[in-house]
Amino acid sequence: MFSFQDRSKILHLLNSYSFDVLVIGGGITGAGIALDAASRGLSVALVDMQDFAGGTSSRSTKLIHGGLRYLKQLEFRLVAEVGKEREIVYENSIHVTTPEKMLLPIYKDGSLGMISTSIGLKLYDFLARVRKSERRKMLSKRETLALVPFLKEEGLLGAGYYVEYKTDDSRLTLEVLKKAVEYKAICLNYARVTDFIYHQNRIAAAKVRDEISGEMITIHATQIINATGPWVDELLKKDVPNQKKEKTLRLTKGIHIVLDQSVLPLEQAIYFDAKDGRMVFAIPREQKIYVGTTDTFYEDDPIHPVAEKEDIEYLLDALKSVFPTLSIGFKDIESTWVGIRPLIYEEKKNPSDISRKDEVWTSPSGLMTIAGGKLTGYRLMSERIVDKIVKKHRFRHAKKCMTKKLPLSGSEGLRSSRFEDFLNKKAMEGAKYGLNFGDAKMLAKMYGTNIDRVFELLGKEKAAETLPKSLYAQLLYSIYQEMAYTPADFFIRRTNLMYFNLALVEQTKDAVIDIMSERIGYSESEKLFYTMQLNQLIHDAKGDGNETGALD
Ligand SMILES: Cc1cc2nc3c(=O)[nH]c(=O)nc-3n(C[C@H](O)[C@H](O)[C@H](O)COP(=O)(O)OP(=O)(O)OC[C@H]3O[C@@H](n4cnc5c(N)ncnc54)[C@H](O)[C@@H]3O)c2cc1C
Repeated sequence: MFSFQDRSKILHLLNSYSFDVLVIGGGITGAGIALDAASRGLSVALVDMQDFAGGTSSRSTKLIHGGLRYLKQLEFRLVAEVGKEREIVYENSIHVTTPEKMLLPIYKDGSLGMISTSIGLKLYDFLARVRKSERRKMLSKRETLALVPFLKEEGLLGAGYYVEYKTDDSRLTLEVLKKAVEYKAICLNYARVTDFIYHQNRIAAAKVRDEISGEMITIHATQIINATGPWVDELLKKDVPNQKKEKTLRLTKGIHIVLDQSVLPLEQAIYFDAKDGRMVFAIPREQKIYVGTTDTFYEDDPIHPVAEKEDIEYLLDALKSVFPTLSIGFKDIESTWVGIRPLIYEEKKNPSDISRKDEVWTSPSGLMTIAGGKLTGYRLMSERIVDKIVKKHRFRHAKKCMTKKLPLSGSEGLRSSRFEDFLNKKAMEGAKYGLNFGDAKMLAKMYGTNIDRVFELLGKEKAAETLPKSLYAQLLYSIYQEMAYTPADFFIRRTNLMYFNLALVEQTKDAVIDIMSERIGYSESEKLFYTMQLNQLIHDAKGDGNETGALD
């Protein structure tokens, strides 16, 4: 049950039963908790007021990274834990997560030294039990320049060369949710919690509005969880008996810019110092390079943050300092996205000094809240939270956590060592459905073992004249198997085309809107609204969504 066609049935189910757990928020945190709880045999409901991953979980730097940052702070236990977790997330989501070589250039006056980096990375390999083929190397100046000839030469001593994992945050969230649904979790997007209902001052249910039909329902649950990321405080305000504020959030904003690989011809990712000593990533992806991020306090509504001129200038300056001969400017930026970090407030701290650790607390009403944390630690964090819930409510029917060895939807039976063989086999099969080798391989990489369902849908349908076959296949799968409802759901959270192929979005948006409208049955006003919404999002992704017209 993960299609727009199931909405009324899902609403009915949510309204009719009392669940063990209700999760509010369908970002990676909420999705992880839903999967952990459902796979242990608990009954689970999850709602999100927007699309799944509509908040921070589609706007991150998209890395499953080890805790190198914690090494600097000498938090060895955390380094070991995050490092091992990175490996678990990778093996359970082979089709969404890919190893990526990362270059760490070292300069005479930079924040890192050759010896300290060499020892640090070696220690990291040991603590995080990094697999042999991915252990760090130290490169000489000559070897570094052979990899990136346009890197600033002055003061360059050499580089560290190690492996991180690149993922797709919104697709990772969706694959977690699809797996949770396999374990009978009932999940619904565009369903907003507006209020709570109490029984003897204990939170007993949430009132939820279906943002599409306007219908109101009530979801009862033994444990209600606030996993609303940047909206944690807003939801806590609705929790009436919760008078004492235990913790508050401090939001910080991080932007990314996307360039064509011809402008910044990097073959591997690079992690380098910005002028203020913060570190910035530049990461290749699908013939593009994305660069990020910034870290500044954010006071506005987190629903729709946009990149401001100063944010973009900061990243362009950082690029200029490390690639002085390339002269990359506003004109080269193809797209941008902005994420809001839900961090726990710490007095007198700068944005980059605030801890990224997750925190969980329970209000007097019994509402449990989770804030902070990273994409990378979602599974472990969920395991700990569900352990707590099982203990608190003495859920005797709950099994032990099994997510350590639970492949996500699309990764069942896949091993990293044989993934390439799998892709080639599926790429050949694509010919039966009129797909060329390259397109079928791209689809197999995106959907993993669910590619068979994509092929099935293509086999049943007549080709659309207005769309390339592979895009049509993605659209059908998104509508019927991934609960996409709006064109933005498709172009942003289901495919990421908005960020990595904006030209294709502009070419195909009218056809996509027509097909979605016909299949889903939009009213005239809905169609108009979603068209305007998509146009606004394209405008913002281009970076001209602010008063200064950043990219003009
Ligand atoms: C710029 C940036 C870069 C990052 N890079 C990385 C990285 O490379 N690697 C990494 O591991 N981590 C990274 N992170 C951190 C990571 O992205 C976040 O920790 C994570 O996505 C937070 O997920 P979440 O589910 O807690 O919040 P969200 O994804 O924001 O989800 C919260 C959800 O709650 C919903 N919601 C809110 N109110 C209601 C309501 N009343 N009713 C129903 N639903 C509601 C929202 O619609 C939203 O979808 C980055 C973060 C940022 C900002």
